[in-house]
Amino acid sequence: MSRKARPSTPKSTNVDEHIPSLAKVCKVKECGRPEYARGYCQTHHRQVLNTGKVSAIRPYRARDAGTEKFAGLRLNKRTIEAVRAIAKEKGISDSAAIAFVLEEWSANGHPWPLSKSRG
Ligand SMILES: [Zn+2]
Repeated sequence: MSRKARPSTPKSTNVDEHIPSLAKVCKVKECGRPEYARGYCQTHHRQVLNTGKVSAIRPYRARDAGTEKFAGLRLNKRTIEAVRAIAKEKGISDSAAIAFVLEEWSANGHPWPLSKSRG
């Protein structure tokens, strides 16, 4: 019995190993995770090893000291306070307040992005 088949290592046709001007991040477009090996993040590196190709994964968002976990999401404090205020005013849960905000937002046809400036 052969053990777990080892997929052949994909040969890279793109030889620029690293983009020197940027911090080392995964070379998959719009991934943004830190490089782990061979120009890929850990997840994409494993994908390459296992399947020989990469597929999109959830966009990476760095943990930020200004955010915290809230109702299963990572939000900044200002947003959390705003959601809490709605939840309190309406007497609904935090999750329900988030759903309320999203439903209002989509129903009113707000353009994306909601605000042009951050902070
Ligand atoms: Zn990646």
